[in-house]
Amino acid sequence: MQSYLEQLNVSQREAVVNTKGPSLVIAGAGSGKTRVLTYRIAHLLTQGVPPHRILALTFTNKAAREMKERIASIVGADVARNLWMGTFHSIFARILRNEAERIGYPSSFTIYDTADSKSLVKSIVKEMKLNDKEYKPGAVLGRISAAKNDLVTPASYVKDQHRMMEDQASKRGLVYEIYTRYMRQCYKSGVMDFDDLLLNTNILFRDHSEALQKYQNIFQYVMVDEYQDTNYSQYIIIKKLAEKHSNICVVGDDAQSIYSFRGAKIENILNFRNDYPDYKLFKLEQNYRSTQTIVNAANSIIAKNSKQIKKAVFSENDIGNKIKIHNAISDIEEGYIVINDIKQKRLKANYEYQDFAILYRTNAQSRIFEEALRKASMPYKIYGGLSFYQRKEIKDLLAYCRVTINPTDQEAIKRIINYPARGIGKTTVEKLEGAAAASGKSMWDVLVGIDNAGNLFNAGTRKKLNSFVGMISGFKAGSTQLSAYDLVTEIATQSGMMKELYQDRSPENVSRQENVQELLNGIQEFTLNRTEEGGETGLVNFLEEVSLLTDQDNESEDDINKVTLMTIHSSKGLEFKNVYVVGVEEGLFPSNMTIESEQGIEEERRLFYVAVTRAEDNATISFARTRYKFGESSFCRPSRFIGEIDDEFVEFSGDQIKIAAPQSRFSASSQPKRSFGSAPVSPKPGYNFKKVSNNAPTGKLGSVSKGSPTGNLQPGMTVEHIRFGRGKIVSIDGQLPNAKATVNFDNSGVKQLLLKFAKLKIL
Ligand code: ATP
Ligand code: MG
Repeated sequence: MQSYLEQLNVSQREAVVNTKGPSLVIAGAGSGKTRVLTYRIAHLLTQGVPPHRILALTFTNKAAREMKERIASIVGADVARNLWMGTFHSIFARILRNEAERIGYPSSFTIYDTADSKSLVKSIVKEMKLNDKEYKPGAVLGRISAAKNDLVTPASYVKDQHRMMEDQASKRGLVYEIYTRYMRQCYKSGVMDFDDLLLNTNILFRDHSEALQKYQNIFQYVMVDEYQDTNYSQYIIIKKLAEKHSNICVVGDDAQSIYSFRGAKIENILNFRNDYPDYKLFKLEQNYRSTQTIVNAANSIIAKNSKQIKKAVFSENDIGNKIKIHNAISDIEEGYIVINDIKQKRLKANYEYQDFAILYRTNAQSRIFEEALRKASMPYKIYGGLSFYQRKEIKDLLAYCRVTINPTDQEAIKRIINYPARGIGKTTVEKLEGAAAASGKSMWDVLVGIDNAGNLFNAGTRKKLNSFVGMISGFKAGSTQLSAYDLVTEIATQSGMMKELYQDRSPENVSRQENVQELLNGIQEFTLNRTEEGGETGLVNFLEEVSLLTDQDNESEDDINKVTLMTIHSSKGLEFKNVYVVGVEEGLFPSNMTIESEQGIEEERRLFYVAVTRAEDNATISFARTRYKFGESSFCRPSRFIGEIDDEFVEFSGDQIKIAAPQSRFSASSQPKRSFGSAPVSPKPGYNFKKVSNNAPTGKLGSVSKGSPTGNLQPGMTVEHIRFGRGKIVSIDGQLPNAKATVNFDNSGVKQLLLKFAKLKIL
């Protein structure tokens, strides 16, 4: 037996080696589903299947990267690199880029993020003279997104009585019209939003059978992780792609389906059984991640859901500690309790910072923990929230890049046409927008023909607009000659952004300058990584990678040994030695928005199950009795979920308190009354207030070591790289800051690395 197969148990191995035909792996958390998928791919490659014939879809880019690294360590990096592996969005963006022209898009289409999409909805609401209090961009966009994920186009939306009635009931009866205009505008601008990447793939496969056949032939094997959270649009794409060879393997856990608000359908699992009646079902029952107590506690939680596929999950790890439940007087005290507990565990049990994660229901809860961590001088990283790529200066520079690649991208033009200020006022922009709408042209086409647009603008304004067009055209010309790094440096300078940012050395400007520098470094790193992988290195590819980063991907190499803060939603698939599930209160978790329906409560309970099952050694739950909400302190009750964990797996600290059974009709069937005993916990004095470290997150691609270690490195030395592992330096070439090392890695082969990014550790 190949050595890698020995790293699997019998049922996992069965699921790995049975590669022919449809397979369904449904199993509980931590039972090795992702591991099975990873080894299955390695197995196929070992059997001689060419990597480009394998399609593997993951939930985050990070998951794809980690799987690829593991596969590379078994079959070698050269083979692993050619796999089609990534998120749905990144894989289908890549396919659409190749096929865009078939569906009337330029292959240089750019991708709107949520802010762009909201801004577009806002301008449509304005153009239609609708009430923007009723037609809130977020709500309208939610409806559009739901329609797209169900493959409902604007034309079928109007005929969909259910949707139309729902819109009317919420006083947004004209969503269908906004949707129509939104689609038209995106098409005209040569842009797609996230949902379009899936919708347009479906349109491509529906209308262009030769394109569908091409990819059906290529993908001999199709695999999907976290299958329980696929939406209808994704389901259809997978079904079509797997039609020819039927070698499809999906892995998932219905108990972890937590994205129904984004259109995820648990039914996809049931559909799988109908679509492939001859499917093989693999059950994995042993959890390798968590202690027995955590596994049993999690089982007792999910057992309260009425809808679920029954499965056994057990652990043979240690029995472990009981789940500790902390009862805090206030949200502030909760912060102290958690941070204090981390401190103590670190000292007593030799844990590293990276062994701790604080998981919460909503992003807004992070602030209190951030403050407590900062005061205690503990390093932390926070996912979600304002990522590096959402900072103003970064979005500005990226908008210039987008316009350079695709000048018809209207939201990007609007963002930069008068930044830095060049005297093009709001009225001018509105007129341009109006002229574009009236003529059916893109705003860029209106701009290019501005001298022929009659007397819409006076001579002074025309001059300014022409000079903007001239500048962008210059960048465009440069894009065919310069490397991405040189091009963006040129754009940052010529646009006047650099001058604007360097006009003074105020702390705010200095940090913006540093961010722009980080972005440039990120482009450099991207180019190098892609070159190593033999992938495309153009600016358009960089922009795409940035647009498709998920919350989990927002991590830099500096972020390794830090406490993790994230929402439970983004913690899916991950594991940490110690997990704190915080703010477990009625109205917060389960969220107020869900408690009116049984379905809502069941989804929240699955979310609670996901949270607890992230823990390997210790799961800790806390709630506060008062919390600041909307500017005032209000009383809170502990969540019903706490009462639902079987007594034998929990232990309490904090004041005596009773969990009253929730009033909702949809509480779990058995609701034990529980009192909380033992000593109260109070905020501990004596935190170190001196060193306040700024741990603002940096983007994944934006990492760079400030003090470079190049000086000590010599050929022949053994070093360690964070991604490629151990290797020997073959040579060092060039001067700082561009010095490169050629390293022969034990498992990843020979690579050239730019030293200022590579952070090689001498062993
Ligand atoms: P989730 O439902 O949370 O996504 P999962 O089912 O995908 O979990 P994995 O992440 O694949 O589970 O595995 C959980 C942990 O158990 C990982 O650390 C993995 O390396 C380990 N593991 C899985 N199978 C084995 C095994 N046979 N031997 C040793 N460790 C294993
Ligand atoms: Mg997994």
